[in-house]
Amino acid sequence: MTKPQFPQVLSIAGSDSGGGAGMQADLKTMQMRHVFATTVLVAITAQNARGVQRAQVLPPAMIDAQFAALAEDLQIKAVKTGMLADSQTVQTVVQNLQRYDFGPLTVDPVMIAKGGAPLLADEAVATVRDQLLPLATLITPNLPEAEVLTGQKIRTEAQMRQAAEHLQALGAANVLVKGGHLGADQAAVDYVLLANGRDFWLTSPRVATANTHGTGDTISACITAELAKGVDLATAIRVAKAYVTATIREGIQVGHGHGPLNHWA
Ligand code: PLP
Repeated sequence: MTKPQFPQVLSIAGSDSGGGAGMQADLKTMQMRHVFATTVLVAITAQNARGVQRAQVLPPAMIDAQFAALAEDLQIKAVKTGMLADSQTVQTVVQNLQRYDFGPLTVDPVMIAKGGAPLLADEAVATVRDQLLPLATLITPNLPEAEVLTGQKIRTEAQMRQAAEHLQALGAANVLVKGGHLGADQAAVDYVLLANGRDFWLTSPRVATANTHGTGDTISACITAELAKGVDLATAIRVAKAYVTATIREGIQVGHGHGPLNHWA
């Protein structure tokens, strides 16, 4: 009897002990999207819905060993990065992504947690921009991340478009700029600029909620899952936007701060 098969995907990320964001959000999302999730853990955070209390980065040799173990035995069809902590870790990840073919790469340039804790050292921003971004099939910054990467202020939709063009010029093939940080009275608008020059906006009504912990991880994990199934990028982004909107709208009660999303929504 033949066994069922599922596309294999890889999350390169940090652990959120609280279960709402980071690698845990990636795993929950990928499971719901019917792909087989594998992981390269690069950092551990002691964290709950109130915030990050402590973080520890894993040694490069341990990161290398996880990549090697996967490459030796599995067939990864799509990969994403999340929290990458510091410049040395970014470089280790870049070297491994160059060494192995794990399919389309979605880079979620995670920098700061909702509670304000840094998840990427300042000294690592240039490494992400110069070494990781050129490998990206897709980069998915929120507005503060896009501002740091481009050095531009982003307050309007026209500036979102300019930032996407700037990120493409820096080497990311396709760009999703997430506009959730635009004015609180506005709808949540995201801008997509594809490699072929096509572009489009995605709009969803703003949900008044504190359950937004792990939104960035979730949308990029969902895109990665869809790409592994062979879905085209524009469709994968639309599916992921719908997925994350539903998970925010139906947020569940866990902890006492930025609560998690509802992956069963
Ligand atoms: N913790 C880890 C390990 C993460 O990777 C992330 C986001 O990528 C966060 C926390 C922050 O999530 P949020 O800003 O959605 O609270």
